Amino acid sequence: MKFNTKTIHGNQEPDKAYGSVMPPIYQTTTYAQTTPGGHKGYQYSRSANPTRTALENALASIENGTHAMAFGSGLAAIDAVLKLLKSGDEVISTNDLYGGTYRLFTKIFEGFGIKFHYVGMENVANIASYINKNTKLIWVETPTNPMMTIIDIKATAAVAKEHQLLLAVDNTFATPYLQQPLDLGADIVMHSATKYLGGHSDVVMGALIVNDKALADRLYFIQNASGAICGPQDSFLVLRGIKTLHIRMQRHCENGKAVAEYLKNHPKIEAVYWPGFEDHPNHAIAKAQMKDFGGMVSFTTKGNKYNEAIKIIERLQIFTLAESLGGVESLAGHPASMTHASIPKEVREKTGVVDSLIRLSVGIEDEEDLIADLKQAIG
Ligand SMILES: *Cc1c(COP(=O)(O)O)cnc(C)c1O
Repeated sequence: MKFNTKTIHGNQEPDKAYGSVMPPIYQTTTYAQTTPGGHKGYQYSRSANPTRTALENALASIENGTHAMAFGSGLAAIDAVLKLLKSGDEVISTNDLYGGTYRLFTKIFEGFGIKFHYVGMENVANIASYINKNTKLIWVETPTNPMMTIIDIKATAAVAKEHQLLLAVDNTFATPYLQQPLDLGADIVMHSATKYLGGHSDVVMGALIVNDKALADRLYFIQNASGAICGPQDSFLVLRGIKTLHIRMQRHCENGKAVAEYLKNHPKIEAVYWPGFEDHPNHAIAKAQMKDFGGMVSFTTKGNKYNEAIKIIERLQIFTLAESLGGVESLAGHPASMTHASIPKEVREKTGVVDSLIRLSVGIEDEEDLIADLKQAIG
């Protein structure tokens, strides 16, 4: 089955009770048993719920995995991965990282004795010098947020395999429409399903997908033991979102390209970060591992003035000033004061998150309207 068909049919069957094409929202905590242990596979909804199972099956299918687990948020999913580790273990992570992930690593897991190294992984050779006997996990985000750096998943997977490390890839920005990290050798795919998978800015959710039963069992144990699951209604909504992922992504990519090209030719714009440009430093890897270049575009203005960036964002009419990304509507954000505010200025500026950086999540509206909006806002 090819990808577009999988989003609609992969691991999905009509519900057994009445043949409903979409699974019912099983709004229940518990399930009647005929005798102790005499149940139909469901006992308590933290452990499993049929609507969540339907979603998890679909998630496994679209990422070419064997098992998936859905969580109450993307960060809850990342939290579950980190709980595979113990005190004294070390993690090598991308340096240009979603701010919340950085906060979870530094403010929670460092306190539990886990050590993190933040490395510029666009050159895979940089990873090796951080590997020692305590290293257990490589954490990759690609494209990175918000600088759109592309990391070679296959080459990173080779390093992970050589040293028997787990490789986890945050696939939130790309989605399985653009890249499938398990096929490229990753062990764990993580999603903030809040973004493109849900796709309509109405659900906060996370997911993990793997293709190894033993690893799935360990993660499932953590999911159930720690309990950061999502509810049945949210599971239903994200399952519905997945069914249009491919057509939404196609339009996100088309509009992303149009916006990136418009900005690149604008005299007031300094730099545009979008992996589809031939002069993007990692364009070749992007072309090799991604089907297209996505709908996320970041840019800076000439002079790099904080106030000017704020003014541009405030003038936007169709792009809504808001956190988050990946919904049908276009959003604009100012990483330095919003998503990356929890990262110290010196640290964020090293990776390019400067004061004038604006990040766009280009939606699926008409391209002409989006460009006209940018035009009036930038002036
Ligand atoms: C939003 C996001 C997260 C965190 O997910 P939540 O659902 O907000 O908890 C992690 N990684 C990336 C790349 C994100 O964009």
